[in-house]
Amino acid sequence: MIVIDQPTPGAEAAEAPVLSKHWSDDESWLLQNYVRQHGYQGLKAALAMTPDDVIELVKASGLRGRGGAGFPVGLKWSFIPQGEASAKPHYLVVNADESEPGTCKDMPLMLASPHMLVEGVIIAAYAIRASHAFIYVRGEVASVIRRLRGAVAEAYEAGLLGRNIFGSGFSLDLVVHAGAGAYICGEETALLDSLEGRRGQPRLRPPFPATAGLYASPTVVNNVESIASVPSILRNGVDWFRSMGTEKSPGFTLYSLSGHVTRPGQYEAPLGVTLRELLDRAGGIRAGHELKFWTPGGSSTPMFTAEHLDVPLDYEGVGAAGSMLGTKAVQLFDETTCVVRAVLRWTEFYKHESCGKCTPCREGTYWLVQILQRIENGDATEADLDLLTDTTDTVVGKSFCALGDGSGSPITSSLQYFRDEYVAHLDGRGCPFDPALSTVFH
Ligand code: NAD
Ligand code: SF4
Repeated sequence: MIVIDQPTPGAEAAEAPVLSKHWSDDESWLLQNYVRQHGYQGLKAALAMTPDDVIELVKASGLRGRGGAGFPVGLKWSFIPQGEASAKPHYLVVNADESEPGTCKDMPLMLASPHMLVEGVIIAAYAIRASHAFIYVRGEVASVIRRLRGAVAEAYEAGLLGRNIFGSGFSLDLVVHAGAGAYICGEETALLDSLEGRRGQPRLRPPFPATAGLYASPTVVNNVESIASVPSILRNGVDWFRSMGTEKSPGFTLYSLSGHVTRPGQYEAPLGVTLRELLDRAGGIRAGHELKFWTPGGSSTPMFTAEHLDVPLDYEGVGAAGSMLGTKAVQLFDETTCVVRAVLRWTEFYKHESCGKCTPCREGTYWLVQILQRIENGDATEADLDLLTDTTDTVVGKSFCALGDGSGSPITSSLQYFRDEYVAHLDGRGCPFDPALSTVFH
């Protein structure tokens, strides 16, 4: 029999880490250990409230979606129709198909603290009055799927899932579903098609899933980190959450640092931290080298340079500096990296992952790879730079979903900051960089 205490106001410090606090603990994934770390107290607090009050609380917290777009979580929940309009069942779907290049925050979270996600799922499902929830996980990550299924089984056994949770009258079934490793299935409507057993391709929006989602029913699709952030808000309250981060981007979040950095990994910090501060914790750029360019939120977000070290990494700060916070996947490259080669590598990824539904992306990403290859190999002329820009223009803003738009970001931003380097490839008839010196993308 598992005993969950009531949350104690003021018991937890208002500081990061929250999500990753117990990642290094022994067997942190077990229910008994999670319960010792205030686990399931947020659920207890939620079940003592009405579902509408839970939605209002999450709205007031200002929690924004951590999957990339930053859409307010409580607002999304409030779109689910209630009352008479609610004849159809409601669903909660957790998007755990983390695939944006450089993004590796949800997987460690689910491995180390799967019950934090399960608790968040139960609270969110209660709030939107869903009795079925799904966690859609990338198929390749078998260890994460096993860990999640273990946690779900423990939760059922302890009466935290299933019928009449905590005697509240609320019942919930939770299924962990393995995808098949397609990047496009991280797009929420392609994910829903895949979950329904069809080929994963984006649907036209609107209608958004909140109106017509899984099985054409009202559905909330939220990212893993968004849902895992909810229990701590229920335990500690809105003021606690809002005392971290910035006014418009409150709270804490996980930044994934990779590439030419001394200690790559996940760094949890309040939103608004700068790359300079993150690099202090991560030991800086690898010894003897200097930062050349970096992505604030994965390859789909326009790149930054060393000039952007002090940009606040929140939605507003990154937006004002000309990029997007995205998934907070900070990929770092030093002066040994050829920017054209890096962009070519990312574009090959988009070409490979294009689902083929719309012509601008299916054909455009193919041609972008051809042009970039010519430049990198030294077979291009000045006209190819114009062709690169023109072809990017036919993809960005004309594609059916965000994959096509995102594929243009590395190209346009690298041309903005490093046009000289493209020209050097033309003048020198090939790549001026020694591939042996750079350790990434070779
Ligand atoms: P979006 O801004 O179109 O939508 C964000 C969310 O808000 C969606 O859930 C959508 O349904 C909802 N929404 C927006 N407007 C709505 C409305 N009027 N009514 C109801 N719901 C509404 O963004 P998107 O296309 O869903 O996602 C793009 C983001 O995904 C990018 O920012 C990118 O960073 C991110 N991304 C993440 C990964 C990853 O691995 N985590 C991979 C690729 C892309
Ligand atoms: Fe598919 Fe690309 Fe079109 Fe999206 S933009 S629907 S991924 S072809």
